[in-house]
Amino acid sequence: MKRVHNFSAGPSMLPLAVLEKAQAELPNYKDSGMSVMELSHRSGLFTEIITDAENLLRELMNIPENYKVLFVQGGASQQFAAVPLNLKKNGKADYVNTGSWSKKAMKEAKKFIEVKEIASSEDENFTYIPKIDANMISSDADYVHITTNNTIEGTAFRAIPDTGDVPLVADMSSNILSEEIDVSKFGVIYAGAQKNIGPAGLTVVIVRDDLIGDASDVCPTMLEYQTHSESGSLYNTPPTYGVYMAKLVFEWVKELGGLKEIQARNEKKAELLYDYVEQSDFYASPVQKESRSIMNIPFIIPGRDLDSDFVKEAQAEGLETLKGHRSVGGMRASIYNAMPVEGVEDLINFMQKFEKQHK
Ligand SMILES: *Cc1c(COP(=O)(O)O)cnc(C)c1O
Repeated sequence: MKRVHNFSAGPSMLPLAVLEKAQAELPNYKDSGMSVMELSHRSGLFTEIITDAENLLRELMNIPENYKVLFVQGGASQQFAAVPLNLKKNGKADYVNTGSWSKKAMKEAKKFIEVKEIASSEDENFTYIPKIDANMISSDADYVHITTNNTIEGTAFRAIPDTGDVPLVADMSSNILSEEIDVSKFGVIYAGAQKNIGPAGLTVVIVRDDLIGDASDVCPTMLEYQTHSESGSLYNTPPTYGVYMAKLVFEWVKELGGLKEIQARNEKKAELLYDYVEQSDFYASPVQKESRSIMNIPFIIPGRDLDSDFVKEAQAEGLETLKGHRSVGGMRASIYNAMPVEGVEDLINFMQKFEKQHK
């Protein structure tokens, strides 16, 4: 069986071991005579799956007792609306603008709440993460919103800003589970599953208890955190197969040694690629050093019109989806948890060969 190295930003590659486990269990899950896809979401077997998934995520991320884990649908994009609808009290929120996804979050939130952009890196094409000082935060803001990893631009917060008593809300779609984080610094964490957790269709929300139960009157039932927290994410039919796949991925992460080990692996992969780009006078990184993502790594070939050749020739060698996002150009290697170090080594070998040919 031929598997490529898939550098897609999302949906992205899944660990082969997880796919094989799902394949083995597909037609007859635990002697039920059914696939997980065919199980009632109220059945004992599915209850076990969703309970295990939650407990594993709690264990991996060290999620404190006073936080709920919700498995919902609608993607991170739906949380752009759900966050203001659930957290609105004074009617104001602070946003940090670090790229395309932050902008979309702000645009959606403006329909429901007064949005203040307290910092932005748009002046330099989002190639860095702006410094956030406590004094920039509005004391009467209902929350502060950040995008911890900017999937398109390839930047990431290397330190979590201190927002004092104002709840910090984070879109962690492209770096959840990639490194150890202190959940207690956040009011809400949300992430679409299709980068580091599993297939598209599942969204994970981690929310502090005191931020549940005070949603605005117009908040649709399905967007209310309380709806999902009081029903154990079983108010309606959850994306059952997505939850099952997430559970398998969580088990895989745990077997590897948890987030500490995953982080070490991710840092090593990113360092290999950045070091190679750094020492080369053919390739360059558009991102400022102290703001670099370890998940999404854009690189360019300055002064040459070689991007489409690069992408095409790489693809012929089993290195897939390296084209940069249409808004920034160049190339982008997304190296999420499931990407093995060999994938990055093969990419670097190809980059060396391509450089020799075109220099
Ligand atoms: C992929 C992504 C999104 C969009 O997620 P959907 O689940 O497709 O809505 C939002 N924010 C970030 C940071 C992303 O990487």
